[in-house]
Formats: sequence, C-alpha cells, structure tokens
Amino acid sequence: MFIVELNDLQGLLTALQAGGFTVIGPTVKDGAITFDTLSSIEELPRGWSDVQEAGSYGIRHSEDDTLFSYNVGPHSWKKFLFPARLRLFSARKAGKAFEVDPVSPSAPPKYAFLGVRSCELAAIAIQDKIFMSGPYADKHYTALRKSACIIAVNCVHVGGTCFCASMGTGPRAKDGYDLVLTEIRTDDRHYFVAQMGSPLGKGLLQQVTHREADQKEREQVEKALKAAHDRMGRSLDTHNLPRLLEDNFESPRWEDVAKRCLSCANCTMVCPTCFCSTVEDVTDLSGEHAERWRRWDSCFTTDFTKVAGGNIRMSTRTRYRQWLTHKLCNWVEQFGTYGCVGCGRCITWCPVGIDITAEAAAIRETSMTTTNG
Ligand code: SF4
Ligand code: SF4
Repeated sequence: MFIVELNDLQGLLTALQAGGFTVIGPTVKDGAITFDTLSSIEELPRGWSDVQEAGSYGIRHSEDDTLFSYNVGPHSWKKFLFPARLRLFSARKAGKAFEVDPVSPSAPPKYAFLGVRSCELAAIAIQDKIFMSGPYADKHYTALRKSACIIAVNCVHVGGTCFCASMGTGPRAKDGYDLVLTEIRTDDRHYFVAQMGSPLGKGLLQQVTHREADQKEREQVEKALKAAHDRMGRSLDTHNLPRLLEDNFESPRWEDVAKRCLSCANCTMVCPTCFCSTVEDVTDLSGEHAERWRRWDSCFTTDFTKVAGGNIRMSTRTRYRQWLTHKLCNWVEQFGTYGCVGCGRCITWCPVGIDITAEAAAIRETSMTTTNG
C-alpha cells in the first residue's frame, strides 16, 4: 500500500490526461452526484454527500471536506461503455436501393473512470461477460472497455439503500481495477491509500508523488472498510435464492407488488447490469437518408415482449416477476452470477420506493408460511 497526499492527487489526473485518457468522474450536477468529464480534482464533489432511501435521493453538505463521501447516484459506468443511444450505421438512397455510408475509422474514446465503487466493478465484470464473450461479442463495448482505465475508490461511507456486503460485491474493491484508492480523513490529515491492480496502475502511480504506507495507515484502511461493512443499510438473504424464486413463480406477492409498480422502467435504466436494447430505423423527411440506432430497452415496456400474434407479458405482475427472477434466479443459470450487485439504485430511483430486498424477503416469508402452514 502507498500513500498519496491530497495535494498530490491532481498528479494522478495529470498522468491520466498525459496518457491520452478522457477522465470521467463524479461531480455535482443538477442536484445529484453524476459522472462527467473532469479536468481537475476541483470538480470532484468535495464536501458533498448524499441521502438515499427507497424512492428518495438528495445531496447535502457533508461533515468534512472529503472528495468521495457519496454513494452511487443515478449514473453508472454503463452510460459510457454501453451508451443509451448508439448509431449503428447510416445509409443513403441510391436509385431504388440504399447504400450504407462508409464507416470512418475513428478510434473510440479512451476513458479513465475515476471513483468506481466495488459494486460497480462487479457490474462491469458482469457486462464484460455479456458483451465480450461468446460468438456475438459487441464490438462497440469491447473497443471502449479494452482501452478503459479503472481507478476504483473503496466505499468507507455506505448509503441507505446499499446491500453489496450481502451480495459479496463490496464494500472493498477486490479486483478489476488498475488502481484503487481509499480516502482517509482524520482530524489533522487527509490522504489516500493506493493499491495497484495492473501494470497500467503501477505506471500511473509512478508518475504521482507517493510513499510506502506504514502499519498504522494500513490498519486505518481495514478499520474504515470494516465500519462500512457493518453499517450497510440493507441486506438480501441469498441462501437458496434461485430455488426459492423458482418454487414461488405463482406467489401472491407478485400481484401485491404489481399494485404498486408503475411499470415505468426506471429500475432497469439505472441498473448497472441491465443490458437489454432494441434497434430502431429512422429516415429523414425526404426519404433519402436512413439511420439505424440502438437504444436501451426494458423488460417493463409492453413492446419488449411483442411477438407475432400478441404480447406474451401483458400484466405488471408478469413484468416485475420477469425482472426480479431474471436478476436473482435465471441470471445465475445463464451467466454463473446474480444479475444484482447490491448497488441499491433501483430502490432509490423507483418512484414508489419498491425495494428488491424487501420483495425477495416477502417471497421467502410467504413461502415459509405456506410451507409451515
Ligand atoms: S437490481 Fe437494483 S440493486 Fe441490483 S444491481 Fe440492479 S440497480 Fe443495483
Ligand atoms: S419497480 Fe419501481 S422503478 Fe421499476 S418499473 Fe416498477 S415502479 Fe418503475
């Protein structure tokens, strides 16, 4: 472990910029902590924190001048690696046919993501598996991902809707980063403890003023992470969870949640692992020019399950059930991991405060009542 003093942190951004990276990190914008391009550490949310509960989000001044005392907000890194809208190609009318415009060989942006949390590392690893493996790897995602640099920041402040500890995805960043920082603020000191995760991270650290951490500084990291782990706002009991959900496909709880759910799709838009998309063709008014766009889609929209002959998922009950059972049951079979990393975004940004941990717990409870009764 190495110590980087607060005053030397700008050196890290400078090293990233010198390496040709566009640095993306947290900043205060539109009343939230969102991700945007950073040119200086002055743009980080210094002295800001957030307050999150089911269906509510707000930012407030924190008790100190720390830079990373917030929890995940409305944006996730998928906004950059898997953009909400992407033009796949454009074409022009040529006689009675269309000719596809030649693709300019411009290089994809080289992103450096600063402030990636452990749950988000897990989400990126899930999306890597979806988009970069198998016979249908996504070339857009792959190009962006392969050139990206990840600077993680350990969570030492946990949010009201977080449950990464129970999903095994946090609060400590275990792997998948180039460099990880832990921010430590005591009465008289403010510094970062850095650990390298790749040769790229090592090279970056070499360009920043640093020194080896002493025993006390190492212990401080462990203490801060343990405190965060113990203060986690929520938890999800994963014991035998896929089987439990499979056995409760007709649970009355699905109807109960359907009475509250607006089928608005917010939960899927904010989720860092959701990956569904659709493709749309558009033309201009002259009919001379056409484009094909990919955009995020959601299992909560009616068009999502429209097939020849009708729609196979017309009710909110079946749509919510599809979403939750995919995340916590079928995803395990498909990808060998849960589709949920415990970031809590779907709980915070659900306009009616539906909580995935509470819904899973209610199904467990109903199942036990049914079994015992
Ligand atoms: S399902 Fe909810 S808590 Fe889980 S990863 Fe998605 S947004 Fe986060
Ligand atoms: S669970 Fe909440 S966020 Fe998701 S579709 Fe229903 S109302 Fe919208």
